[in-house]
Amino acid sequence: MFPTRCRLLVFFFFALSSLGFIDASAGDADPIYRSCVDQCEKTGCVDGKCFQHCNFSDGNATDGPWYLQEPMYMRWKKWDCQSDCRYQCMLDREEERKKLGYKPVKYHGKWPFCRVYGIQEPVSVALSVFNLAMQFQGWVSFFILVNYKLPFRPNKKTYYEYTGLCNIYAVLAMNAWFWSAVFHSRDVDLTEKLDYTSAVALLGFSLLLAILRVFSVKNEAARVMVSAPILAFLMTHILYLNFYEFDYGWNMKVCVVMGIIQLVLWAVWAGVSRHPSRWKLWVVVFGGGLAMLLEIFDFPPYWGFVDAHALWHATTIPLTYLWWSFIRDDSEYRTSILLKKIK
Ligand SMILES: [Zn+2]
Repeated sequence: MFPTRCRLLVFFFFALSSLGFIDASAGDADPIYRSCVDQCEKTGCVDGKCFQHCNFSDGNATDGPWYLQEPMYMRWKKWDCQSDCRYQCMLDREEERKKLGYKPVKYHGKWPFCRVYGIQEPVSVALSVFNLAMQFQGWVSFFILVNYKLPFRPNKKTYYEYTGLCNIYAVLAMNAWFWSAVFHSRDVDLTEKLDYTSAVALLGFSLLLAILRVFSVKNEAARVMVSAPILAFLMTHILYLNFYEFDYGWNMKVCVVMGIIQLVLWAVWAGVSRHPSRWKLWVVVFGGGLAMLLEIFDFPPYWGFVDAHALWHATTIPLTYLWWSFIRDDSEYRTSILLKKIK
């Protein structure tokens, strides 16, 4: 018991001490980069390289086909232009910085990556899709277990008290991985907000799930009392991010704190409870903790492709498998206890 607690403390210390170093992306705060992007969006060119998406002059002709005059098409074009400009300015700026002996910095929350077929972070996209598939597989197996294999209560509901919450969790998780894949393939303001919003919603909901399960809150009224402040905070945070200020640093702090609370809750509960599958929780908690370190002690991509964030997405794949396996075990465990009580 002791060494694990010790490790937890060390992890806590590192996580908290690193909070102070997390800041908004340095790259896009750079005035040279900013003026380059501004200039590029106006002229459509950087250093003699011109982007066809930035050529808006031929788009306003009324004789073009209808789809070229659509506002949606124009918006896409604008996004493509902005994305091309940001990419080119980033490459140029990083080249300059490299010559001056500076290390790579982040732009709009991301490291400078090499694109493949216009996909900005191919490794992260592939891993996000993989994660989505794992969540889906886990959810389907859980769904089949509680709905077809385990017995029902007389009122046709499942014995497992957390079925509904797990279903919501699954939907939020798949939603988050979907937008993660979209965001990593094309980074524009909208996809970025959707990704961050979905991720925060998932993290917040899993915190709620952790609290409700760990303290076995089963009563409807008690659940509402516990959920209300958490959901209110989540909503406020999401609205703040989307409509007031998109603050990476603040969001990171919120996410780290929510993440640490749920990891500690699960870890302590796994230690205290006599749950037959508690080892799965231990692995998920320590794996999750280590994965979180990857998010915190971020490093620039190797070979322009694999950065800490991509690795983080890789670690969540086995953890997701184990997590759903724990939920399945938990549903069987709770059902067997409740059935014993009846007999
Ligand atoms: Zn991601």
